[in-house]
Amino acid sequence: MKEIDLRSDTVTKPTPGMMEAIINAEVGDDVYKEDPTVNKLERKLADMFGMEEALFFPTGSMANQAAIKLHTQPADQLICDKWAHVYNYEGGGASFNSGVSCKLVDGQRGMITAAQVEENINPPDFYHSPLTTLVCLENTTNKGGGACYDFVEIKKIRKVCDEHNLGLHLDGARLFNALVATKEDPKDYGKVFDTISVCLSKGLGTPLGTVLIGNKEIMKNAMRVRKVLGGGMRQIGFMAAAGIYALDHHVERLAEDHRRASELGKTLREQDYVAEVEPVETNIVIFYLKNFSDEADFMEALKKENIRISNMGQGKLRIVTHLDYSEEMHDRFREVLRKIKL
Ligand SMILES: *Cc1c(COP(=O)(O)O)cnc(C)c1O
Repeated sequence: MKEIDLRSDTVTKPTPGMMEAIINAEVGDDVYKEDPTVNKLERKLADMFGMEEALFFPTGSMANQAAIKLHTQPADQLICDKWAHVYNYEGGGASFNSGVSCKLVDGQRGMITAAQVEENINPPDFYHSPLTTLVCLENTTNKGGGACYDFVEIKKIRKVCDEHNLGLHLDGARLFNALVATKEDPKDYGKVFDTISVCLSKGLGTPLGTVLIGNKEIMKNAMRVRKVLGGGMRQIGFMAAAGIYALDHHVERLAEDHRRASELGKTLREQDYVAEVEPVETNIVIFYLKNFSDEADFMEALKKENIRISNMGQGKLRIVTHLDYSEEMHDRFREVLRKIKL
């Protein structure tokens, strides 16, 4: 019985087409900026978002951390949702790497509003409190269950940032999921954000890589910051080739992941043992059992069927659909969910 691993969209393996692109990549030393495939990937993403520059990083965390560093000075404060990846899942990097604190906003499903941003800006002349210099948004939201921002709200946040001289960074680990789900244009994102990180190793299915995109002025020190963080890589064009392949072949198919996630949400809602399923907007399904105490039995029942999902704690269970989750697996998983008795 083949394993069905839905803990995350990071568990995928390169497809044969992607492997071929990797093997055939033309490479050079990227620390000298001499890797033609990395340069091509960076240009491709910068152009796609209508921004001037892009830089390839090994991980999303490093790209976000570099962005925070580029936007802030030690002792500054950034504003983000209380569930933000930059605050919760990057090992405390904002304080370690940049010496900044995070003002956490009580948003909805990981998303904050322009009014909340405005309320949380410290008065710049009041030198007792940290200076607010940056706002970090996430789209789609991870802990928020793959929710997508309303672009109108993002534009309002941009306006607040302009009025208060704040940078605006987007953690776009799953930005392509949002773009596909909402049919938005990446160029609109390029216009409102100062920096955007885009992961290639989530739904797009490469082994590694995140690209940080921004305009010349803010990206001026990006290479230096990446070096300090230990992220300068050599013949990494092999992985950039995987990224180019993913952008060409794996973006539109994200809609399939979204359909399957939505169908799983529906199946779960029909089961007696499920208390609640959060709205499914993209490839993440978050749900809760009626009895918290049944969680271990539920996970065990799935394990017997060689199916893995995530337990996020506090009753939150999470399923993430992806490239390696086939229609056949999808049918089997839904069958298993209907069969479980708790
Ligand atoms: C996965 C993810 C990242 C980056 O994670 P890495 O594992 O460091 O690549 C950043 N932000 C969000 C919202 C994510 O889901």
